[in-house]
Amino acid sequence: MLLAEPPPTPYDWHFRLGSIPVRVHPLFWVLAVLLGISGENPDGWRLLIWVAVVFASVLVHELGHIVAMHFFGERGHIVLYSFGGLAVSDRISAWGRGRTPFSQIVISLAGPLAGFLLGIASVAVFLAGGGQLVFETYGLIRSIALPEQVSRYVGDLVFYLWTVNLLWGALNLLPIYPLDGGQISRELFQLWDARQGIIQSLWLSLFTAVLLALVAMTQWETPFLGIFFIYMAVTNYMAIQQLSGRGFGGGPRW
Ligand SMILES: [Zn+2]
Repeated sequence: MLLAEPPPTPYDWHFRLGSIPVRVHPLFWVLAVLLGISGENPDGWRLLIWVAVVFASVLVHELGHIVAMHFFGERGHIVLYSFGGLAVSDRISAWGRGRTPFSQIVISLAGPLAGFLLGIASVAVFLAGGGQLVFETYGLIRSIALPEQVSRYVGDLVFYLWTVNLLWGALNLLPIYPLDGGQISRELFQLWDARQGIIQSLWLSLFTAVLLALVAMTQWETPFLGIFFIYMAVTNYMAIQQLSGRGFGGGPRW
């Protein structure tokens, strides 16, 4: 659930998953390839597997949101866009009606949960097929051992499926608006304080985004992610200014 839906382009790819319409924006492929070739040893097959895994993982994440929406009587469609995807509710956009805090929290959680399940399922199939894995702290894979006569690309596939879903889910659960975690924290803050809740959740979001930007740039050496978090922090700041300007809480009192 990221930002607003991008306008249609002639290069959009449309298909359906059952009754759910899916649109893939061309920038999705561009970003997936760019993220894939930033590593060492350019390898065509490996890059193809990477892009396929990113595609499947973001799709499953958004499907999680859509399935939860169905549970609450909403219909929706999926858009895969530059840095991730969107699960757009047809009811919310058409009627402009909000959700209850409970349904919003469940819908927000369902995306990361679906991704974690995909990661766990792929590791389970790999282990059942005779593969071996060593995990390190934070749940990342340290080493992978394949059964004999299995292509090393199977190892890449499992490694990517696990890593992308774990990191994508964890990133999305950060209390940064408009990531899923930011939506959840906004609901919780508003339950706690109906008047000031949104502003408070946006301040938490802003500080978390700045902190993560610093960590991404200095510790993880991923400037791309750093820029992403700075962008989030700036949009959060603008939202705070906008809400404060309307006299909706915030300002010097906070
Ligand atoms: Zn999401």
